[in-house]
Amino acid sequence: MSRKPFIAGNWKMHNTVEESVNLIEGLKAAKNKNNADIMVAPSFTSINAVVKASVGTGFKVAAQDCFYEDKGAFTSQISPVQVKGAGATHVILGHSERRSLFGDTDEILNKKVAAALKHGLVVVFCVGETLEQRESGKTEEVIKGQLVNGLKGFTAEQLKDMVVAYEPVWAIGTGKTATPEQAQETHKAIRAVLAEMFGKDFADAVRILYGGSVKADNVDAIMAKEDVDGVLVGGQALIAEKFVRIIDYN
Ligand code: PGA
Repeated sequence: MSRKPFIAGNWKMHNTVEESVNLIEGLKAAKNKNNADIMVAPSFTSINAVVKASVGTGFKVAAQDCFYEDKGAFTSQISPVQVKGAGATHVILGHSERRSLFGDTDEILNKKVAAALKHGLVVVFCVGETLEQRESGKTEEVIKGQLVNGLKGFTAEQLKDMVVAYEPVWAIGTGKTATPEQAQETHKAIRAVLAEMFGKDFADAVRILYGGSVKADNVDAIMAKEDVDGVLVGGQALIAEKFVRIIDYN
């Protein structure tokens, strides 16, 4: 099954509006020789400027999170309606930093997915285990729980554009990358869970990204694995030349 590659940059809490636009200018050097979907996720404050700066590039712009209500007295929260209104088409949900630092549980994420889908945003749904969970042999069980509980109640049709990102918590921002074999093994397990939940056709078509210390010098080996359809990049997505090299992986 050939799946279109998907290369994503999560800028986290970096970049002013001006810096964000400069970064987009730098990314225009990418040839996109693998004909990948390319996505960037700036801070909310920069979404609209990044959308405008990206006209003609084909870059998809994502929010890094969104709330599950459309509007109301929810000081500081950003709704999917606002994300869409700013021009983004995608939203990252369930990033491990959201889960561990800001209390996003599977139940909350399930509501966020519903809200995002209701407004036509494409969801990039993140899962991943901690080091302790991996070392105690619980990786597959943890990931299965995140998928089953976070994606409960949706149909394959509703989730057909969703992208899943496998991001082992111990590999995020640590410089410690999962080996391509570890990534492959877990991606295969994720695909099997999705096949149980939504059927084989869905699982064969869904794109699963690897995230966690992806760099210009390890992207080629990771992308070579059968069940790895793309990457979600943090730190190295902030440096134009590095992310260009990642987009144009070999
Ligand atoms: P990293 O972050 O590439 O800096 O490890 C990845 C992520 O959190 O998406």
